[in-house]
Amino acid sequence: MADPTASLQPGDALIVVDVQNDFCPGGALPIDDGDAVVPVLNRWIAAALDAHVPIYASRDWHPAGHRSFKESGGEWPAHCLQDSDGARFHPDLRLPASAILVTKGVRFDKDQYSAFDDTGLATELRNRQVRRVWVGGLAQDVCVRATVLGAREEGFEAVVIGDATRPVTRARGASASDEMRLAGALLETTDEAS
Ligand SMILES: [Zn+2]
Repeated sequence: MADPTASLQPGDALIVVDVQNDFCPGGALPIDDGDAVVPVLNRWIAAALDAHVPIYASRDWHPAGHRSFKESGGEWPAHCLQDSDGARFHPDLRLPASAILVTKGVRFDKDQYSAFDDTGLATELRNRQVRRVWVGGLAQDVCVRATVLGAREEGFEAVVIGDATRPVTRARGASASDEMRLAGALLETTDEAS
């Protein structure tokens, strides 16, 4: 079990993946209990601020008719359209002004599930002497999975904050967890606040 304040160390970064309205209940591509990650992530964000650990927030940010949409032959309903309400971060997510946004899904020629996919994030983290990333957000088996695997491929230690993420389906979530563990990531849960 991980306590955010005790866990975060120099050389760490916190990556909050795609905590956007469209991935929460009522959104265009809702994840069951997706908004349940918000209070957990708020504790990690607060602890990261106290520890001077840099905070990154990725967002899916699609142009109209993006190739990942069903209407264009892709897998998903239209979601996270650039500048739409659905693409906004959940209103209760307490991202500080110092959080650095990582925008993805903007490319016309491919989708980008991972915050590391053609965004330059690995270079940015190395420039800040980051060696380990703590990852939470949505969805556990899609963009969190891809981001964690991307971090491992780039040589970062990676920890999944287990109760700060939710899968599209439980079965997909279980197989994503296995895959992330096999890639060398750790899966942690957060201690309950006392
Ligand atoms: Zn997307």
